[in-house]
Amino acid sequence: MVILPERPDKRIHDFGVKIQQHRAILATMPAPASRMIVTVLGSGTSQGVPMIGCTCAVCRSDDPRDKRTRSSIYVEAPTAKLLVDTTPDMRQQALREGLDHLDAVIMTHPHADHIMGFDDLRRFCDMRGGPLPLYGSASTLEQIERIFHYAFNPKKLVPGYVHVIPHVVEGPFQLGGLDLTPLPVPHGAVKTSGFLFAHQGRKLLAYLSDCAEVPAPIRELIAGVEVLIIDGLRDAPHPTHLTIGGAIEVAQAVGARRAFLTHLTHERLHVERQRQLPDGLDVAYDGMKLEFDLS
Ligand SMILES: [Zn+2]
Ligand SMILES: [Zn+2]
Ligand SMILES: [Zn+2]
Repeated sequence: MVILPERPDKRIHDFGVKIQQHRAILATMPAPASRMIVTVLGSGTSQGVPMIGCTCAVCRSDDPRDKRTRSSIYVEAPTAKLLVDTTPDMRQQALREGLDHLDAVIMTHPHADHIMGFDDLRRFCDMRGGPLPLYGSASTLEQIERIFHYAFNPKKLVPGYVHVIPHVVEGPFQLGGLDLTPLPVPHGAVKTSGFLFAHQGRKLLAYLSDCAEVPAPIRELIAGVEVLIIDGLRDAPHPTHLTIGGAIEVAQAVGARRAFLTHLTHERLHVERQRQLPDGLDVAYDGMKLEFDLS
């Protein structure tokens, strides 16, 4: 098998988005008000890659891009640091990326692979010296409260424990100097809230990590988005996730200038999958950074 280096022309793009790999440099820089920086904390499906007990070529791969923790992103907005989902890998993701502060947490849906790191928010509560604002749909926050009820008790703010202030969001809202719009998409028995991140009318990023399809009204909302990060589970159909082909169709139909697949299984090596994709479409990987110039 030939491992191809990534094409250098994929690193820098002419529309204000750069893919950065210099994590160490960025980690020491506070996000200036004129930038939004997005870090892919995890790009793997619910079981993660490698999968426990699997000896396939992908699970044995030495390529760091084939090590996929559960799907999540970290957004350094102009005036706030935001975490989208608290995966079972959240603690390791935070350590890996040197996260030391959060201003708010946004939840997409209450599946285990997106919420089971929730208790580890305790450290971020300690570091900020108070509760964390938590955003999500009513049904998502209800489910999280059912599991982590102790985090939702405002009368019992015990140091060292996780505490959140819930904010139900079913329509557009502002956070961290950005305009956010929930994007409800079907995902089996639940609806996932994807999110559109916009700034002064620019549709910067649409994040749709878990979806079986993208209905027409959502396609309209994200039409012309600069970057789309979208569920691209695998080739074979799945009842609750888009296939690779389905993700490509959505990316092209909405006219995303650039799109990245996330929530991937161990079906293909990163380099193999990347080779199969049309121009403008790439495979996300853990630690990948996107920088948006907002000046
Ligand atoms: Zn998921
Ligand atoms: Zn495997
Ligand atoms: Zn899910």
